[in-house]
Amino acid sequence: MLKTIRSAGFVLLLVVFMTLTVSGFTKDDTQTDTLTAKGFLCLQDLVPEIIPDVRYATTNNFTHKQIYDSDRLYLLAPAARQFKMAARYLKITSNLYFRVFDAYRPLSVQKKFWAILPDPNFVADPKTGSRHNRGAAIDLTLADSEGNALEMGTEFDDFTSLAAWSAEAISDEARQNRNKLKEVMEKFGFKALPSEWWHFDFVELQNTVNLDIPIPPKKQDADSADNQLTCPEQN
Ligand SMILES: [Zn+2]
Repeated sequence: MLKTIRSAGFVLLLVVFMTLTVSGFTKDDTQTDTLTAKGFLCLQDLVPEIIPDVRYATTNNFTHKQIYDSDRLYLLAPAARQFKMAARYLKITSNLYFRVFDAYRPLSVQKKFWAILPDPNFVADPKTGSRHNRGAAIDLTLADSEGNALEMGTEFDDFTSLAAWSAEAISDEARQNRNKLKEVMEKFGFKALPSEWWHFDFVELQNTVNLDIPIPPKKQDADSADNQLTCPEQN
């Protein structure tokens, strides 16, 4: 009898919990507002010159699974604004573009990555988190005016020593391109990570808090092609 009462109590708690959870997840507008309210800006909105190549929104990434429901890229406003200036500078001075793999990453995703690859050289321990979780890091490469990625010596998320800035066994062309990427990013306040040529931290924002706010979902298919690169209202 006691067991039955306990089971009934558990089921009741489960129903209450699921109701709360479902109601929380159905408020897409609230989620969007929450990320925006935290001071984030969407890069596709702010920096139309970029070429989004958000691998975690596809299966073309080291987990071989689609991790994100959305291919929108977000950074905290101060980092996003500096990045916008970097993109303009790059275009004006070199006729090149940023091809962007990742920016803000929810902490729950960091935990998934850590479970797959618990190597602090390539994935930050979720106990401390990554600047990606604080909207202050970006993964990217350079692209030509046709959108083609330039040679960098390795692919994005190549977890080998060749991805490091100290790697010697890369071509002169790759070395030059890496240096160009670093030069432009550092000019605008982003710092290179020694083990990954594609990762840059906006160091000014190092003391902000790790977040687990979901990235707002993709727009519906009914939206026009022109709208696919736009982001939710920022007000
Ligand atoms: Zn990164």
